[in-house]
Amino acid sequence: MANKYNTKNYDYLIIGAGPFGMIFAYEAAKRGKRSLIVEKRAHIGGNMYTHTEHGITVHDFGAHIFHTDNKEVWDYIRQFAEFNGYQNQVVANYKGDLYNLPFNMNTFYEMWGTKTPDEAKAKIEEQKKAALADLGDKAPRNLEEQAISLIGTDIYEKLIKGYTEKQWGRKATELPAFIIKRLPVRFIYDNNYFNHRYQGIPVGGYTQIFENMMAQSNGLIDVMLNTDFFDIKDEILPEFAHVLYTGMIDQFFDYQFGELEYRSLRFEHEVIDSDNYQGNSVINYTDAETPYTRVMEWKHFDGLADEGKTIITREYPQTWDRSKEAYYPVNDEKNTQIYKQYAKLARTEHPDIIFGGRLGQYRYFDMDQVFNAALNEVRKEFGIAADFNFAHDEFH
Ligand code: FAD
Ligand code: UDP
Repeated sequence: MANKYNTKNYDYLIIGAGPFGMIFAYEAAKRGKRSLIVEKRAHIGGNMYTHTEHGITVHDFGAHIFHTDNKEVWDYIRQFAEFNGYQNQVVANYKGDLYNLPFNMNTFYEMWGTKTPDEAKAKIEEQKKAALADLGDKAPRNLEEQAISLIGTDIYEKLIKGYTEKQWGRKATELPAFIIKRLPVRFIYDNNYFNHRYQGIPVGGYTQIFENMMAQSNGLIDVMLNTDFFDIKDEILPEFAHVLYTGMIDQFFDYQFGELEYRSLRFEHEVIDSDNYQGNSVINYTDAETPYTRVMEWKHFDGLADEGKTIITREYPQTWDRSKEAYYPVNDEKNTQIYKQYAKLARTEHPDIIFGGRLGQYRYFDMDQVFNAALNEVRKEFGIAADFNFAHDEFH
């Protein structure tokens, strides 16, 4: 069986052709190392995968906007694609009323008619005092307390509670505070969804990034698509001394400390005969009753499209089970404790295996954090002390 996969030809076995796995394989190839990637889906790119239809780039696994303060990561990704100047500006629809996101002077004006930062701050302070009197000077203990202490009860009730509880399938009081801190709160009129210095989307989509990595790897990367690692684990794993695993860490260890919790999603794509369906790239539905959290209209992400057609995607959160894709780790206290047991087992039982990425490290990573983590892993593996050299001449 050993030679069925010609395992002796490879330096690395990599599970998952998402960004973590692909970056590692590409950097290994630059250093003359050969990788075999096992990927259960029919394509490379993981959740960053995009395809083009009617001249429109569709993000198959939800809207992906690259945003970062990390100059090295920003320079790194732009080796593989040209980026547009897209800036994410999300509109919230609460029972038919529209509000700008993230929480800024436009939102406060729409909610309360306040016009100056002092007026808005006074309103928030008044609501916070009334709702969180018991908390005193203590730090917020959960997402609800965190949200109210940042922007008061009106915005919490209309723009956060319903969205959060359907997204995560549990009460906002049972969720960690850090999740809501992903969204900026600012006292200027500025609807930019992110605070980062660099932001954009690759012209033509993300898939080319991974295709370019393959094309520039001198044939040193082979990918087995449509192959679940767990179907071949027993025969293939013992053949490799060096392994990178980017799937679910609890599944790797056969759920021996119990399942980690994840949230799953269902995407409903629709082609519509219209030039412009909703007038914005993302509209969030923040009430509890609408079953989806957001609707994306893809042509507004890059302005390139055939006339008369538009494509939208509704994103429905759903409970995860073993038959579904795990999209989000649930980083609450209970799951963090379980994850720590798996991480410890990984260190003691499998020091030869790198566990990486959103599922391998059970972290709510954005793309730039995955790029950074993968590059750090490459640094460790190959003993590179300094910054990356972006020239491709190592191959020649
Ligand atoms: P993934 O991209 O998930 O890749 C893992 C790969 O491993 C997958 O291809 C999977 O099929 C494969 N795999 C898993 N198990 C097995 C197995 N047993 N056998 C074989 N293959 C396996 N980040 C941003 O920066 N900006 C955004 O706007 C943004 N929006 C997002 C929206 C949504 C809806 C989601 C879900 C995520 C979003 N992200 C965003 C996060 C981004 O998708 C992740 O940070 C990134 O894709 C993680 O990379 P990864 O390589 O760790 O994992
Ligand atoms: N959130 C919310 N209302 C919104 C948008 C986001 O309450 O209209 C909360 C929700 O809890 C969500 C979190 O903020 O999970 C982070 O939002 P983000 O847009 O970063 O989520 P992601 O794109 O990662 O799904």
